[in-house]
Amino acid sequence: HYQLTTDEQKQTKYFQQISRSVSNINQLLDGVLTLCQAESGMLPVVPTQIALDRFCHSLLEELEPISCGKHELLCDFDSKCSSIHLDEHLLRHILINLLSNAIKYSPRGGKIDLKVKHQDDRVIFEIKDRGIGIPEEEQKTIFDRFTRASNATNIQGTGLGLWFVKQLVELQGGEIYLDSIIDMGTKFTVVLPLV
Ligand code: ATP
Ligand code: MG
Repeated sequence: HYQLTTDEQKQTKYFQQISRSVSNINQLLDGVLTLCQAESGMLPVVPTQIALDRFCHSLLEELEPISCGKHELLCDFDSKCSSIHLDEHLLRHILINLLSNAIKYSPRGGKIDLKVKHQDDRVIFEIKDRGIGIPEEEQKTIFDRFTRASNATNIQGTGLGLWFVKQLVELQGGEIYLDSIIDMGTKFTVVLPLV
């Protein structure tokens, strides 16, 4: 419609914005679908060979816009992790959820570290932020559905993300741990067995 009245540079910018929005909606729908499948025990685990280094860097690049340049997103790899056999679709949901939490709950910005280590027959992902932290007495129940911490009420959320992540981790025979100190930061550790 506006091809003749809008200059080319603006058109490119708008097309990129539309494309990003479509991709966000797609991801959201995929998230809802995956969540429903996980809830009904119908979610298949399909491991494939993943070039983890490239995969994680592209995730961080994707998350850059929600950080609005306030955070330093860092990636640290054990060289043994260059190629691993895991379900890419599930891993993507796990890491996107934990990394976007790290960004969201660090409103003052700061470093966010994604560390990947290989240990025997498991791979370990650590996601660490320097944000608001989770009060100690609330940590035990924080993976429960619709549970939010008392210090996060002014930050938008539904309290579903961590529950979803835990389901996906356990579906693959893995474990998730939490270390957090209020006003200092939070670290989530995901341990997944390699198949
Ligand atoms: P959403 O369902 O959109 O992800 P949410 O972020 O509120 O909403 P969860 O991801 O399940 O829900 O997280 C549950 C709660 O755990 C959050 O509301 C917040 O209180 C706390 N939390 C999660 N990650 C962090 C973090 N990295 N730092 C501090 N608090 C966190
Ligand atoms: Mg969340």
